[in-house]
Amino acid sequence: MSLEHLPSLEVLRHVVDVHCHPTDSPVSPDVMDQLPITICAMSSQPSDQSRVRDLALAYPDKVVPCFGYHPWFSHLISLKPSSSKEEHYRELFRPGNLEDIFRRMLPNLPEPIPLEDILHDLHRNLEEFPTAMLGEVGLDRAARIPINHSASPVELTSFTIPLEHQLTVLEAQVGLAVELGRNISLHSVKSPQATSELLEKMQKKYESCWLRINPRDLENYRGKSCTEGRHGVVSYDEQKHHRNVFMSLSTAINGRSLNHRELIAVCSPDRILVESDYHAVEECTQRTWDMVRTVAEIKGWSVEAIWTNVKEEEWGVVRRLENNWYQFRVGNRAALR
Ligand SMILES: [Zn+2]
Repeated sequence: MSLEHLPSLEVLRHVVDVHCHPTDSPVSPDVMDQLPITICAMSSQPSDQSRVRDLALAYPDKVVPCFGYHPWFSHLISLKPSSSKEEHYRELFRPGNLEDIFRRMLPNLPEPIPLEDILHDLHRNLEEFPTAMLGEVGLDRAARIPINHSASPVELTSFTIPLEHQLTVLEAQVGLAVELGRNISLHSVKSPQATSELLEKMQKKYESCWLRINPRDLENYRGKSCTEGRHGVVSYDEQKHHRNVFMSLSTAINGRSLNHRELIAVCSPDRILVESDYHAVEECTQRTWDMVRTVAEIKGWSVEAIWTNVKEEEWGVVRRLENNWYQFRVGNRAALR
């Protein structure tokens, strides 16, 4: 990894990577000890909730833990009692003439976990960490189920998780986040309409409580361009409509998008956050910093080289993004009142 253009440690101390997956690879204590920024560590499936928990316990000043179940793993969750594992997956995937593939996949799938148990565990984790967020949760209509998740290379089937199932899992988790006044890190792929409808529905259902929650990380709603991004962005109109929505950008995802610069340009300056969305913590700082510099360049903001007290009109990009992060977090605290 090349550490290019990194500022002093006193500046980096104010940088927050609002979305990454450090427990997806081995985390070295040395790297964590030297990590100069704050990271929001996502969990996504049954096995990594405790890894994120342990990381946050070991590094409480650097890690904001995020607990939740990603749509890619929502098939592992059962919504009602079924007589067997096979019955659960058969009902979900309805294999039809893909019986052979279903038969190959089935032995590699775990026993499903009842949604109730998932929510119970989630509740416990969120309560244990008052600053924890819900994430990564969401909707994904593009994801296909692998024959064997731990095989390499991964062979994908054409089975997808029905949107209805994903929505039930997501809404239950969002309900918990609202109840506990937590921010949400939301994934949305190929489901702009369902995501939009969900936001609308949540706003009606939870009214003022919902307004204090800050979902982020939404895909661009402007039609064609929304199909690429995994964590994307929300259109300017959508952002105006949902006052609680922040836009988070990463070089990993948004950097590849052609209109990525244009999106930063139209995004409200007080709703931008940055992220690495990366799985190796040793690269989170550089990747987040690259995004900080891109935002600064497009918005015409200065980049702090050292940390000094300046008037608000003279704030550089780090000060501005830190303030956005603070506002994002206040949403969380305001809901607890
Ligand atoms: Zn992610």
